[in-house]
Amino acid sequence: MSLAIVWFRRDLRLADNPALHAACAAHAQVLPAYIHAPDEEGSWSPGAASRWWLHHSLADLDASLRRHHAELHLRCGDSARLLAELVHATGAEAVYWNRLYEPAAIDRDTRIKQALREQGVSVHSFNGALWREPWQVATRTGDPYRVFTPFWRNLRDTIGEPRPLPVPQPLRGATAADGVALEALGLLPGIRWDAGLAQAWRPGERGAMELLEVFADDAVGDYAQARDVPSRHGTSRLSPHLHFGEISPHQVLATLRRLLDGRPGPRPDPEPFLRELGWREFAHHLLYHFPETHTSNFNPKFDGFPWAKADDALIGRWQRGRTGIPLVDAGMRELWHTGWMHNRVRMVVASFLTKNLRQHWRHGARWFWDTLVDADLANNTLGWQWVAGCGADAAPYFRIFNPYLQAARFDRDAAYIKRWIPELAALPAKVPHEAWKHPAALAACGYPTPMVEVAASRDMALAAWRRLPAG
Ligand SMILES: Cc1cc2nc3c(=O)[nH]c(=O)nc-3n(C[C@H](O)[C@H](O)[C@H](O)COP(=O)(O)OP(=O)(O)OC[C@H]3O[C@@H](n4cnc5c(N)ncnc54)[C@H](O)[C@@H]3O)c2cc1C
Repeated sequence: MSLAIVWFRRDLRLADNPALHAACAAHAQVLPAYIHAPDEEGSWSPGAASRWWLHHSLADLDASLRRHHAELHLRCGDSARLLAELVHATGAEAVYWNRLYEPAAIDRDTRIKQALREQGVSVHSFNGALWREPWQVATRTGDPYRVFTPFWRNLRDTIGEPRPLPVPQPLRGATAADGVALEALGLLPGIRWDAGLAQAWRPGERGAMELLEVFADDAVGDYAQARDVPSRHGTSRLSPHLHFGEISPHQVLATLRRLLDGRPGPRPDPEPFLRELGWREFAHHLLYHFPETHTSNFNPKFDGFPWAKADDALIGRWQRGRTGIPLVDAGMRELWHTGWMHNRVRMVVASFLTKNLRQHWRHGARWFWDTLVDADLANNTLGWQWVAGCGADAAPYFRIFNPYLQAARFDRDAAYIKRWIPELAALPAKVPHEAWKHPAALAACGYPTPMVEVAASRDMALAAWRRLPAG
């Protein structure tokens, strides 16, 4: 009886899973396997918040498989060796997986593919993560895109009609000896700081679909405006689910179209939301074609930028939400508590770190990496380089977010600030919006005075930028 191994990685779902679907169609039995190998992710092994998510997502995937008379085989260690062992132990003829696009994963997968084929095992890999793969979208001259708008036009016109695959039926699961228990992967924190994460999220395929349905019902029509207001649930919050592949972009598109078409009355326009998913595709496109950019500036002109010396005390206050700039602190505390931060606030805190404090964007990217449940090498790299001004199609350096004006505009009544900095809850909104004018009122609440003067630090950042050679 022919048997195939389906190697799950960041495609932790049963529906619209091309590797699982193809394996079930071609073989009498499949062994669903997950190998925990954090050392194989280069310098980006999953951070603490991601590990928390992964634990619960694997538990959910196993529960879903069990409802279909299969189970997830877990291993921990070297992927190449363990896959070879599993092939040997089960007599598998083939290994199936969905592709990843980070440089370290590409190197590893290429080596594993070659080694398995040399052993006579057939290997099949698929696109389970993107509307279109990085090499399928190119300029007229065949080059990768560096600017978002033409990339998006090309992508949008070529996605086609999404037809997500169903959960394979029947799913005849095989088992293997020597698997380990989920707890043995050591993904959960020793000291339990994760209560806020558990309150905020439901990792797994069903949690993802529920969020999408709520978003389609309540928010997609108003997304263009509401997405900038951090106190509202104006965005989908699908980012960790998309990162771990609990839902695919094809499923998002197809489900949204179905739900919106079935509605009475005028149909809301999903384009502004789909465009953001386009940024996700653009981020993967860039990381694939410019694989060094997770640590190097996309724009080499910034290699000569006079960053301030790394200052652990300054960075520590930023990380803990004790800068004395209320919108920045609210964002950093939301991140610490829930593992997520609203996009507008991500831009504000990143601008504050890289411009007002002139700390290298890599310090911020690392902190996000450890604390975000949606930490994603492509999106995080793009986000930090975009804000710092050194990325592809980045915000020009001289556009420095003023955190006070951003708060007055997008958090008018300070509801977001007060939610995450409860010690300021009794103050009128103008106090946090003009924190520099009210040191005594803030001190009386036990809140720090601003650690830098925003206008003066902005001028210093601009002066540093002017020292960059033209080009
Ligand atoms: C400094 C910085 C760091 C970031 N780091 C990450 C990260 O590690 N992981 C991550 O998923 N996103 C990151 N982002 C992008 C963005 O902030 C989040 O994707 C978004 O806030 C997630 O919330 P949502 O799911 O409600 O988004 P929605 O507004 O509902 O958007 C839907 C989906 O589109 C994608 N998306 C939206 N905005 C962007 C964007 N600007 N770039 C790339 N993809 C986008 C996400 O997959 C998101 O889930 C970062 C942005 C900045 C400025």
